[in-house]
Parts: sequence; structure tokens; C-alpha cells
Amino acid sequence: MEPTTRQRESQRLQRVPPYLFADLDRRTEELQRRGVDVISLAVGDPDLPTPEHVLEAMRQAVMDPATHRYPPYPGTGSFRAAVAEWYQRRFGVQLDPDRQVLALIGSKEGLAHLPWALLDPGDVALVPDPGYPVYRVATLLADGVPHRLPLRPGLGFRPDLTEIPTEVARRARLMFLNYPNNPTAATVELGFFAEVVRFAREFDVVVAHDNSYSEIAYDGYRPPSFLQAPGALDVGVEYHSLSKTYCMTGWRLGWVCGNAEVVAALGKLKTNLDSGVFVAVQRAGEAALRGPEEPVRRRVAAFQARRDLLVDGLREAGWRVERPRATFYLWAEVPDGFDSVTFAQHVLERAAVVVTPGVGYGEVGDRYVRLSFTTPEDRLKEAVQRLCRLR
Ligand code: PMP
Repeated sequence: MEPTTRQRESQRLQRVPPYLFADLDRRTEELQRRGVDVISLAVGDPDLPTPEHVLEAMRQAVMDPATHRYPPYPGTGSFRAAVAEWYQRRFGVQLDPDRQVLALIGSKEGLAHLPWALLDPGDVALVPDPGYPVYRVATLLADGVPHRLPLRPGLGFRPDLTEIPTEVARRARLMFLNYPNNPTAATVELGFFAEVVRFAREFDVVVAHDNSYSEIAYDGYRPPSFLQAPGALDVGVEYHSLSKTYCMTGWRLGWVCGNAEVVAALGKLKTNLDSGVFVAVQRAGEAALRGPEEPVRRRVAAFQARRDLLVDGLREAGWRVERPRATFYLWAEVPDGFDSVTFAQHVLERAAVVVTPGVGYGEVGDRYVRLSFTTPEDRLKEAVQRLCRLR
């Protein structure tokens, strides 16, 4: 008799949707093997270096043996103080660094663990579609039930909270939001967050606002903090990351701040899962937050120039694209006759440019592709020329 092999993946893991872009990846590799010069506009990972003063702080910190030991679980007191000072300076929001700030191993880690801290099996989490995939997958892994909040162009890619059925809202314990938004690049004003606070109060929902792109904004626009909305500290938390602001994706440092009860719940969970962020990295993070703003401004100016290059070039070629006020993404509608995957395949085959199919961020995203501009200018120019020849 044939031995029956047990399914190795837990049912929980099997709930995670399959990776959708295997074909696209395979084809990209095939083209590259044949010597085709493929340009990827698929990943949102800044190519610009981390600012010099941050590197210098890391150099010094790493030489200090005190940084070599286990870090304090919630983050060092001085990193949390630096976060609170930055919040006060940037948003005029006062935070207690001891109760309302928690260091994270990148914001993704803290977002992924939040449903474990707040949801019981069957509880609903409201997740934007399209949205950063972690919100939905982490909810599924925690035995929660994700409910889509469709983000459509008519409402500026904001969810319509009045569309959420009352019985779903009643079962909801958590709502994820993210502005400036990945992948749509949409932004909101404080008035929207005030509406969110009202909804959260009415249905007793915890709001987790992901503000990872708060500093990557153009033309003088300054994205607000959710915590600036009156009453927000009673209902929610906000996530931030050093990754985008200081071009530190590889360093793995972020934080969550706001409602003390939510911060404590996530802190309690994390104490049982990880042992914190390397203290030297936290010292470098402090140097970033307390340091000069000029290096950030220069990096943002570089992204803005690239944004214009990409938007102007694509518009000339007849693409209908908005000029985003924030993030380093363009969210472009695909032409009739395509869905997001077939259009990405078409672009790869005809232009040797990789773009991300919007369906990767949710069903509602299937009419769009995402192009990122974290690629050096000469490569971006070349990509635009190829895309212009496409149609
Ligand atoms: N949130 C959003 C919306 C993102 O786009 C990303 C990174 N792509 C993250 C969170 C995670 O960033 P990190 O873990 O590097 O802080």
C-alpha cells in the first residue's frame, strides 16, 4: 500500500492565498537568461542610500558593547522618546513614550502581529481592497474574517464607511487604513480621519492606520496623522516606518503608537514572540528622527523629479495617470481588453518592463497596475521610452 503523505502545511497556512505572479516571475527570469535587459518597476524599495548621519550613528553604536546584548522588549527608552519628540514636532500630537510607543522590527512585523493580539476566531477585520497584502493575510492567519473595503477612484480611493453592512460593522474589531496609500498613492485630509473616529466609536472598532509614507509627499503637501483627529487616541494606533523616510528598508525599524491599551496588547504578544530590535539600529533610528531634515528633503525631491518624468512621459504616450501627491507609486488603469495580469504580461513581453498587477492587492485592484519609481533616473527614462513605444 502506498504510504499516505500528510499535508505539511497547516490549514491556517493553506488559507493564505497562492502567490499570483509565479508565471510573470518565471518569464522575467527567462528573458533575463536570454540576455534581455529587463527593467523592474515592480518593487517599492528606495535605491537611494541611507543618510550619512544615520550611518555614522550606527558605526559608533555598533562599537559599543552595551548594544550587543538583548534589547529591552518595547524598544529603548531613548528611541521611544525620540519618536514622541518627532510626533510632537511633526504633528503636534503628544504621546507618552512609556505607554503609547512600541518599537517594531519594521512596521510589517507589527502590522502582521496585530490581529493575533486583538481578534478572536470569527472576528471581522475591515481591510482595504486594494491594500497592502499583510492586513488581509495576517487577519486570515489569526482566524479572523477579512471584510473588503473597496477603494474606488470615484471617492478618491477612500472607503465608503456607510457601505459597510451594519451586521458586519458590529462583528468588526479592527480596521486597517493606509494614507498616503500603497498601492493607489491616494491621500486624505484630516476630515476623513474624523469620520473614521466616529465610525470606530459607534461600532467599537480599533483603527490601525499605517502611515509608512507620511514623509514621502510632494508639491508642499504634508500628510496628516490619524492621531491628529479628535478622539483618535481613544480608538486607534498609527504605524510608522524608518524604511521609506530615511531609505532604511534593510535595517528593519518601525514603531506603532497611540492607544495605550492596543500598544500594550501588541507589546504583550511580541514579548512572547521576538526579542526586540538591535539596540544599535535603534540608536541609528534616533539619529534619523532627531537629525537634520535636509537629507530627507533631498531624497523626496529626487522622487518628485522621477514622478514627473514618469507621469509626463506616460501621459505623452496616452496613458491616463494621476500625478500622485505622495508615495513612490503610480496606479495606472489598464486599457480595455486587459486585466491587471494580462496587461503586466503584455508590458513585459513588448517592453521588457516589469509592473505589478493590481490584483495582487485585492480583487478591486484588477483594473490597475502599479509602477514604482524607486529606480535610478536613467533606467526610469529608458523604461518610459519603452512604454511609450508600446501603444
Ligand atoms: N505598510 C505599507 C503600506 C508598505 O508599503 C510597506 C512596505 N512596502 C510596509 C508597511 C512595511 O514597511 P517596513 O516593514 O519596511 O517598515
